[in-house]
Amino acid sequence: MSAEAKVEELTMRTMNEAAGEGGRGLNYEENLLWEKERSDHPGVDLPEPEGMALRTGRPARETIGLPQVSEPQVVRHFVRLSTWNYSIDHGFFPLGSCTMKHNPRLNEKMARLPGFAHIHPLQPENTVQGALKLMYELQHWLAELTGLPGVCLSPAAGAHGELAGMMTIRRAHEAKGNGHKKVVLVPDSAHGTNPATAAICGYTIRTIKTSETGRLTLEAFKEALYAGQDDGGDVAGMMVTNPNTCGLFEREIIPIADLLHEAGGYFYCDGANFNALVGKIRPGAFGVDVMHINLHKTFSTPHGGGGPGSGPICVTEELAPYLPVPTITCENDTYRLQYEDEAGRPESLGRLRGFVGQFGMHVRALSYMMSHGADGLKQVAEDAVLNANYILSQLKDDYHVPYEGPCMHECLLTDKMQKDQGVTTLDIAKTLCERGYHPMTVYFPLVVNGAMLIEPTETESKDAIDRFITVMKEIAADTAAGDTDKFHAYPESTPRRRLDEVLAARQPVLNWKE
Ligand SMILES: *Cc1c(COP(=O)(O)O)cnc(C)c1O
Repeated sequence: MSAEAKVEELTMRTMNEAAGEGGRGLNYEENLLWEKERSDHPGVDLPEPEGMALRTGRPARETIGLPQVSEPQVVRHFVRLSTWNYSIDHGFFPLGSCTMKHNPRLNEKMARLPGFAHIHPLQPENTVQGALKLMYELQHWLAELTGLPGVCLSPAAGAHGELAGMMTIRRAHEAKGNGHKKVVLVPDSAHGTNPATAAICGYTIRTIKTSETGRLTLEAFKEALYAGQDDGGDVAGMMVTNPNTCGLFEREIIPIADLLHEAGGYFYCDGANFNALVGKIRPGAFGVDVMHINLHKTFSTPHGGGGPGSGPICVTEELAPYLPVPTITCENDTYRLQYEDEAGRPESLGRLRGFVGQFGMHVRALSYMMSHGADGLKQVAEDAVLNANYILSQLKDDYHVPYEGPCMHECLLTDKMQKDQGVTTLDIAKTLCERGYHPMTVYFPLVVNGAMLIEPTETESKDAIDRFITVMKEIAADTAAGDTDKFHAYPESTPRRRLDEVLAARQPVLNWKE
C-alpha cells in the first residue's frame, strides 16, 4: 500500500472512530495521534503576529510536526491508552517474583500531604525537618526488620540497590586491601540483575548449581567457592535470593554464609522476596551483609508505571561507613543529610544519584509499615505464604510441580503435563489473558523448563484465588481431554493478539512512516 493510500485508510478509520464505530464494544482500537489528525483541523489556531519582526529571523521550520488534534482528542487518546494498562487495581496480578500487592489508598493520602508533596530537595534542612525525620524513621524500620543497622535510602529501584550494594562491597574490599578478590558467586536460578550487577562492578561470575531439590546445597556451594583458589581467596562475595526464585527457603544458608565469611567474602542477599520473611526473621541473622529492599514489592509502593520504584539497601555495621551518601542522621533532635566530607562518612563510595532517593515512595512505605505495625507485617508474610501454598495444594494434581514440599510466598509449576498435548506455558499464559487474568511469571526461573511462577500475595481473598484456580483447572482439564486448538488462538478479545515478541525486540519499528 502506498503511503498515501495508507494515510487515506487511516483517516477513514479515524473518522469512523469519531462517529463511534472505531472500537469493539468499549474495547477501543487506538491509533497514533498523528493518524487522527486532519490537515483542515489545526490543533491550535493562533493569528499570525502582526507588526512584529522576529528578532531571530524566520524560524527554519514552520512546524515542529506536532499532531494537529483537539484537546478532547488528546485527552481521549491518552485515557484510552491508560485503560490498556492492566494493574493491581484491575484484578488479580499473580506475577511471581514481583510481589504485586495492593497499594493502600492511605499511602497515597500521606504522600499528598502538602508538607511532603510540596517541598523541594534544595530547601534548607531546617525547613524540611519533618521529611528528614520521616526518612530517618524509615531507615530505623528497615534496620529493625532486616537486622542490618546501616541503611541508605537513595537507590531508585531494586536493580539500582543491587548496584549500590555491590559497590559498597567493592569499596570495603578496596579499603581492606582486598582488591584482588575478583569473583562473585551467583546461583543458576538467580534473577538476571544479579550477575549483571556483579559484572558491571567488574567482577567475574562463577555459577553455583541449584540441586534437584531447587535449593543450594553445601556441596555445590563449596565446589563454586573453592573452584579458583583452595581457600576461596579470590571470592569477593555471593549474591543469593532467599527465599530463592523457585519460591523455596535456602535451608543451608547459615553454613553457606559461614564458609563464605571464612573465605573473606560478603553475602549480598537480593531482598526482592522479603515479603515471605518480613516480620518473621531478620536476614542479618542468617549471615547477610548487604540486602536491598524493593519498597515497591514488600512495602506496597506502586511498581513502575504507577510511580518510580525504590530500592534502599541495608548493611552490617562493618559495611556502613562505605554506603553511598547521603544518609540521614539525628543529633539533639535535629535531622541532617550526611555527606562524605563530614566526620563519620569519609569512606563512603560517594553519591549514586541526585538528591536523596524517591521521597514520595519513602512516605508510602513508612505509612504502610506504621499502619501494619510489627504484628501486622508478620501477618503479611504468613498470609502471603499461606495463599501461595493454597494454590500449590489445589493445582498440584493438574500441573507438574518440579520441587517437592511446601513453598514460601510463590509457587512454581511447569507445563510438563500439558506439553505432550501441544499446550505450552505460553499458551496457558495467553489463555489467562483471554479469561481476564494477568498471567503469572513465565519461563523464569530459567533452571526449570516451562516454568510458571505464581505469587498471589497476601492481598487476595480466598474467593479471588479460587476463581483463578478454577480457570487453571479448566485449562488442564480441556488439555487432558484433547480440546486444545483454542489454546493456540487465544487471546481473541484483546486489542492485540499474539505478537512476534522476538521480531519486535530484534527489529523494532519505531517510526510511524517508513
Ligand atoms: C524485582 C526483582 C529484582 C529487581 O528489582 P527492580 O526494582 O525491578 O529493579 C531483582 N531480583 C529479583 C529476584 C526480583 O524479583
